[in-house]
Amino acid sequence: MDILKVITLNLFCIAFSYGQQISSFTEQLYNEYPKYKVEGFSNKKVEPEFLQKRLGQVLSKAPDFFDTQVLGYSVEGRPIRMVSVGNGKVDVLMWSQMHGNESTATRSIVDLLSFFAENKKKKVVNDLMQDLRIHFIPMLNPDGASRWIRENAIGIDLNRDALRLIAPESRVLKRVRDSLNADYGFNLHDQSRYYNVERLSNEASISFLATAFDYEKSSSAGRDEAMQLISYLYQINQKYIPNHTGRYNDDFEPRAFGDNIQKWGTKLILIETGGFKDDPEKNLGRKLNYVLIGSALEAIQKGLHKSIPVGQYTKIPRNDRNLFDLKIEKVQKWVNGSYYTVDLGYYLEEADTNDEVKYMVKLEDQGDLSTYSGYRNLDAHELRIVFPKVYRGKVKSSTHEKSLLRKGFLYFSRVSKKYQSEIMKQALEEVEESLENAYFLFNNLNQSKYLFYNGQIIEIQ
Ligand SMILES: [Zn+2]
Repeated sequence: MDILKVITLNLFCIAFSYGQQISSFTEQLYNEYPKYKVEGFSNKKVEPEFLQKRLGQVLSKAPDFFDTQVLGYSVEGRPIRMVSVGNGKVDVLMWSQMHGNESTATRSIVDLLSFFAENKKKKVVNDLMQDLRIHFIPMLNPDGASRWIRENAIGIDLNRDALRLIAPESRVLKRVRDSLNADYGFNLHDQSRYYNVERLSNEASISFLATAFDYEKSSSAGRDEAMQLISYLYQINQKYIPNHTGRYNDDFEPRAFGDNIQKWGTKLILIETGGFKDDPEKNLGRKLNYVLIGSALEAIQKGLHKSIPVGQYTKIPRNDRNLFDLKIEKVQKWVNGSYYTVDLGYYLEEADTNDEVKYMVKLEDQGDLSTYSGYRNLDAHELRIVFPKVYRGKVKSSTHEKSLLRKGFLYFSRVSKKYQSEIMKQALEEVEESLENAYFLFNNLNQSKYLFYNGQIIEIQ
């Protein structure tokens, strides 16, 4: 064979094995998703009791198809259930929400079970079930989910409890992994929305990891295959959310489940769902997890990932952490008699209160933040920060209020019976001058253009 032929053949092989082809099953999952999406999970917060109720409804559509068992109980006595389906020899174990406030994949699992229930007589599902036995533990940490916190009711992080097994929830996971000696494992989490794709301003909406099983990050046949499977899934993401996928840090954590389960011989894949612009409840993330998990099962059953070079995995860009919720660029900050041009980067956590303060505002960094970007960005060059003043009188009308806002008044001292202010606030005590509280951005005509208040940017017309 001459050299040209060899090259052509190699190129063909790479293109064939690692091209843009998406299986028809993956397309079906993606395109027909609304048919199987289970009602009631459009918000991130999922109560354990609600999950059990809905899960029961989904499984009752095909009662002979699924096996459900209670594996054990949480610290506070909530049941931890596992749903198993399929009759094959290859065991796949997946668990979600070991961190109580990471519910995306839990919602996806319910959707996928709904797909299986509705399509149990279709060939594609039959093929899967003939070769695989799939075990789902949706919500390993129901006490944490109920409180909407990462930890369990003892206050510990279950993903740092794989060795000591302090928590009953950890013991459940260890016991089930050992008893199945599962061939494949899926560890399903949500990651910080501040992760971006290395060198891009795109949020890392999904990140993958083939967990390391030692400090040297050694390879093994199992870890190699996990990498191949991830590269297969990465191509799917590149079709549906191009350049919004990252590779999670693979530093070894001796106490984590993922790392140990890889060590114990299960081919382990970590899927982390991150942020989505304009989708705070992560409904797109939920759909993508559903597509990815279903597609991974097909790949395992058919060996679709096995011709992908292992090295493709390291070509997936890494996660970086260069995002803010809000970035204000090149604003003039007055300090000790001079103006300095700085960028301001904010984190905004939604506060769980009924009063007016909706966000916990944190000025995370300031200075040259040119390597960072925000979910929202404001170009503030030629604008300067001016702290608000108190108007010692009554606000008379909407027009009056607007003229006061333009001059930098945010507070008023006397309540008017005639006009209820829309934006201006009553001054109670002294006004705090803080970059995390409230300030105006003035232009060089000495007019306010924007008001920063409660983490939000309000344009002053
Ligand atoms: Zn997590």
